[in-house]
Amino acid sequence: MISESDIVVVGSGALGSSVAFHLAREHKGSVALLDKADLASQTSPRAAGLTSQVRRSDLMTRLAMMAVRKIETFARDTGERLVYHQSGALKIARTAEHEAQLAAEVARGRAVGVELDFVSPSEAKRRMPFLETTGIRAVTYSPTDLYLDPAQIPVGYARAAECLGATMLPHTMVRAIEVKNGAVDRVVTDKGAIRCSVVVDAAGAWARQVAALSGAHAPMVPTRHQLLITEPIAGVEPTQSITRIIDANVYVRPDHGGLMLGGYEERPLQYSMSALTSSFDIKDMPLDLEILRALAGRVREQLPIFAKLGGDIRVREHRGGLPTMTADGEHSVGPVPEARGLFVAGGCCVGGLSIAPAVGEVLAQWILTGEAPMDLSSMAPGRAGAARRDEAELQEACRLQYAHHYWETPHAPPG
Ligand SMILES: Cc1cc2nc3c(=O)[nH]c(=O)nc-3n(C[C@H](O)[C@H](O)[C@H](O)COP(=O)(O)OP(=O)(O)OC[C@H]3O[C@@H](n4cnc5c(N)ncnc54)[C@H](O)[C@@H]3O)c2cc1C
Repeated sequence: MISESDIVVVGSGALGSSVAFHLAREHKGSVALLDKADLASQTSPRAAGLTSQVRRSDLMTRLAMMAVRKIETFARDTGERLVYHQSGALKIARTAEHEAQLAAEVARGRAVGVELDFVSPSEAKRRMPFLETTGIRAVTYSPTDLYLDPAQIPVGYARAAECLGATMLPHTMVRAIEVKNGAVDRVVTDKGAIRCSVVVDAAGAWARQVAALSGAHAPMVPTRHQLLITEPIAGVEPTQSITRIIDANVYVRPDHGGLMLGGYEERPLQYSMSALTSSFDIKDMPLDLEILRALAGRVREQLPIFAKLGGDIRVREHRGGLPTMTADGEHSVGPVPEARGLFVAGGCCVGGLSIAPAVGEVLAQWILTGEAPMDLSSMAPGRAGAARRDEAELQEACRLQYAHHYWETPHAPPG
């Protein structure tokens, strides 16, 4: 166990490992990456592994584009193998409101340089042959979006950070962050204390609790999100496009010869991590396949293959994790006002895996140079938009962000 490190990163998921790698690459001093569990073992390896470059704000879109470019050059940059499928992504509107949303997304995406355009329903079917086109009003296609097995990102970055000299400390739980004269001084773990001047809170579902150890406020709500993967289905190819259906908030992609389906239900389970024991592990989280069956029902007309779920088509894998939602749907990235030297990388809003390569780079630059490389103020952990007067109000705002994930304007569903 070390007793000193210039920088301590708490959490070795996609966000923490990426920050640790980018810090270790640029920083001449010491970097330690801590995790209370095995490295890269919690929510990150359970993600769907999809990128989505047109996001709700120009800043998120820019970071998401940068992240795709960094995934393309990951092997060269880190020396670690990474397999990805650049199958492109289809986004489908079945209502007039969502057709207008797609038009706005094309304009917004193009303005910041995302390759994105409308395609005909028949072209969409060519790219995802399991799609039925009746009822589709409009479809966009983004050729550079991709998917990958999610564990590769945190595992690759953690290994690469270690090769660059960072210290890996799995099974080391942060229990306190001591602040002296307004600045971070030590992190206290169950294995001993580490003196440091910078701490990065990338503790995923636990990020709010870790920030609170120093008296900082990082409002976000861990929210259960699940997906299923079918047994192999004749005709599934890895080149078939990621497909998202806006009104149903459902996504589908190929996975090892089967199809993956995940989505966003109206009333997700929200967690308060402080109510759980400290040994809680994401693998112990109860899952509910009925939620995914109901989501499959919402896309029955477009993807009738899922009507056979449980019959001819069997579920090979069912997994879930705890991404964290924020009240305004923006990530939480940057220094906290309460303790000098404490930075947050969290509030993933179910998009943290794919944006982590970019967030890791910009946050590392901010920490090392003292200046944000771009205006990241809309992601400030202490911003007004992320705050809510009380817990119930925060939970409801986060629920709406989750339940209408693909909708431009979260509001109650029609009828
Ligand atoms: C089913 C599913 C599908 C998803 N699909 C996508 C997708 O397609 N694209 C996408 O971009 N995102 C997706 N996501 C979201 C994505 O998984 C998250 O955004 C991402 O994994 C967040 O990474 P993280 O590093 O913040 O969290 P984690 O991977 O959970 O890492 C946090 C780490 O912090 C550690 N930790 C916590 N507290 C402490 C402590 N006190 N001391 C030491 N260590 C601590 C934990 O043990 C954990 O390892 C999906 C999520 C799920 C569940």
